[in-house]
Amino acid sequence: MRIALGQIWQETNTLNPLATTRENFETFGVLRGADLLEKMSRTNELGGMMQSMRVWSEPPELIGLVRLPAWPAGLITAATFDWLQAEVLSSLRAAGKVDAVLLALHGSLAGHDHPDVEGDLLAAVRELIGPDIPLVATLDLHAYVTPKMIAAADALVLFHTIPHVDVVETGNRGAEVLRRILYEGVRPVVAWQAVPAVLPAEVANSEEPGNVAAIRKARLQHWEAQPGVLTAGVATVQPWMDVPHLASAVVVVTDGDITLAQNICNELAGDLWQARQQYLPQLTELATAVQIAHESDGLTVLSDSADATTSGSIGNGTAFLAEVFKHQWPRPVCLAMFAPHIVAQALEVGLGNECEFTFGTEPPTDFVEHFTARMKVEKFFPTAFTLSGHLGSNLAIDMGQSVRLTSGNVNLIVTSRSGPHFAPELFRAAGIEPFTAQLLVAKSPCGFRAAYKAVAQRIFNVRSPGCAPANFWEFPFANIQRPLWPWDEFDWQPSALLKPAK
Ligand SMILES: [Zn+2]
Repeated sequence: MRIALGQIWQETNTLNPLATTRENFETFGVLRGADLLEKMSRTNELGGMMQSMRVWSEPPELIGLVRLPAWPAGLITAATFDWLQAEVLSSLRAAGKVDAVLLALHGSLAGHDHPDVEGDLLAAVRELIGPDIPLVATLDLHAYVTPKMIAAADALVLFHTIPHVDVVETGNRGAEVLRRILYEGVRPVVAWQAVPAVLPAEVANSEEPGNVAAIRKARLQHWEAQPGVLTAGVATVQPWMDVPHLASAVVVVTDGDITLAQNICNELAGDLWQARQQYLPQLTELATAVQIAHESDGLTVLSDSADATTSGSIGNGTAFLAEVFKHQWPRPVCLAMFAPHIVAQALEVGLGNECEFTFGTEPPTDFVEHFTARMKVEKFFPTAFTLSGHLGSNLAIDMGQSVRLTSGNVNLIVTSRSGPHFAPELFRAAGIEPFTAQLLVAKSPCGFRAAYKAVAQRIFNVRSPGCAPANFWEFPFANIQRPLWPWDEFDWQPSALLKPAK
């Protein structure tokens, strides 16, 4: 038994003007063939898939195709789309005859002229392998599930958690569905439903008992534990993506029982629709949140969700920095930013020297106001660390040459590549212990909670400008279909679409 494994990972934010290019993928770390199998054996979905398959009673021969990851940002260019597709297809051709294909995808990768990159990719893979070879893919909870994906794959297996702390388990679950197809002869049938609602990311927390996302996770786990159910998933979709038919989705795959799949799908879709209001976040005004942090003991964490680099925003926002500068801080304040031109300027200024820096100028956008401050070049460091927790399990991160700028107790970490501008590891790389800070600003809408919930005295979702605003429906979207909640208020009933067995 020969099984081909591969990955394409990027989450696109179409409001971010910075295009994603082949270079972004290559910088993050493309892996091919045996190198993929070796280096990803304990990391994220691919690691989960490999760990599962190696303990099957008849372990298959694994064929590494290619791993193509890039950090969330703007649309991929047309040339990058062509390159991604060519990489996957040429590696699959070179693999020779395989008995199955298992892919780790995000599901919200969009390009200029290609709003549904993973749908196009899965369709191309299906065309190459023919109708009978099993094709299973894993997806992020924020996937943009499309008819093309459903048509091409035998099963789509989604994360159940937000923060995404089940990336390895989702790899395990994807491999298990494939094992049942290959060794138990199950015959996947799919029910799926696009739900015309796009849900804010700030409130959902599947790891907090009683939270709307925790209730949903429990329901999904309940259904997946039933005999005959291969997988059940709900995608609440990447909100900052102006693409046709943007919607949340439910995907249920059973062993030959289309009625069971239909009933579960309709239940989950109806529940999601009914619960939509619970996803609306309560936002604190920036000045208020910073004032509270200034007056309080312990660690205050503020979510700069609108400029969250984990949501594909640019990460160069200045609003929090400008507000923080209005106060004197008795204990450390930690902020982070993606601004290669500031790193370059700091290198010219030199270690230990002070200079006026103007933040928010690159790239020029409507979202970010320029802010000038005199800061000291405190420390240069390479930002390479291993991310575990939200999004990552032993995931290698390299945000390039970075600098820590200071003004009194204000610490600003500036990186030359985008990345998880919330991670405790980022601040530790800069020589600061974030858990003992007075204030920490996390460029993440929700995932940061996995890292800070146990230590933070208080956490606020803060209203701020950026490419990933919590109130996204108040921004211009040209390509979505209407009606769509929360743009519109309307009645809706689920009616699952069905894909019978082959
Ligand atoms: Zn996600």
